[in-house]
Amino acid sequence: MPLDPPTVADVLTAQRRIDGLVVRTPASSYAELDRLVDDAGASGAHVVVKHENLQRTGAFKVRGALNLLLRMSDDARRRGIVGYSTGNHAQALADAARHVGAPCTIVMPTAPNPVKERAVRALGAEVVLHGERLEDACAHAEQLAEDRGARLVSAADEPDLVAGVATASLELLQQRPDLDVLVVPVGGGSGAAAACLVAAAVAPRVRVVGVQAAASPAAHDSWRAGELLVRPNRTRAEGLAVGRGFALTQGLLRTHLSDFLLVDDDAITRAQRVYLTAGRTVSEGAGAAALAAVLTHAERFAGVRTGVVCSGGNASEAELRRALTSA
Ligand SMILES: *Cc1c(COP(=O)(O)O)cnc(C)c1O
Repeated sequence: MPLDPPTVADVLTAQRRIDGLVVRTPASSYAELDRLVDDAGASGAHVVVKHENLQRTGAFKVRGALNLLLRMSDDARRRGIVGYSTGNHAQALADAARHVGAPCTIVMPTAPNPVKERAVRALGAEVVLHGERLEDACAHAEQLAEDRGARLVSAADEPDLVAGVATASLELLQQRPDLDVLVVPVGGGSGAAAACLVAAAVAPRVRVVGVQAAASPAAHDSWRAGELLVRPNRTRAEGLAVGRGFALTQGLLRTHLSDFLLVDDDAITRAQRVYLTAGRTVSEGAGAAALAAVLTHAERFAGVRTGVVCSGGNASEAELRRALTSA
């Protein structure tokens, strides 16, 4: 059965519901970053970074998880939740579950980012490592949820999650109503779908551009084809490592997304370095993908006031070392 997409009224309600539980993250500009983007070919571009890397648990996803868990009945909370994730969805669910006192089990693919795995355990969730790819972890999580009578929380096909995530875009448009474009990284598509929903309702002249890793292009290819596709999933930016399109988020992307760009993993790593050096900002790969797209496709952003979502900051040590030694 198709899910009803959230409305902007749901987003406003979510904003009130999670107010005080999440960080109103800064929207910042950096002269050196603007200069680098200008040098890359976007003359007169002005970049505004939405710092969800500074969000509670280090990524935007906790906005959605809190909204979802706060909307669950007492009985459903007692039965608990099961999620599957490469890390940030996991941390968000674990954090929100702890807030409402619900048991939380997370299935992660084997060999997770150690920073994320430690954080999930520290938040009190049970961690099960299963399968090489997110798709394998997903199948295992479905089984666990059924066995335990718990609620399986999808990473994207969840209206309450999208409504909560949308508060990040709403907040950015409230902080910087002068923006022309929002550039949003895409994995399952909740962040970009949420940006489309909000922009269409409150700032229809603002264009929303999605960015995905070329090594994991399922959402991009699904959007271009107009149907849900399965695609290879090989990016090292684990926040973007998703192998299929999701119905709810693709439906919202179809209503308002104006373009969808692909970036390769090395461009993402270089953008992480730019964040470190020109923006004093720690981003994980997925968190730097939007900036990577602006640097790679700079000519499209000449003279444009561009909001880039720095979606997360949970980079492993190895990842930061790679970024600092990249050319
Ligand atoms: C999950 C995640 C994304 C992708 O978001 P979707 O809503 O799945 O498209 C991007 N960046 C970071 C840091 C993430 O954790």
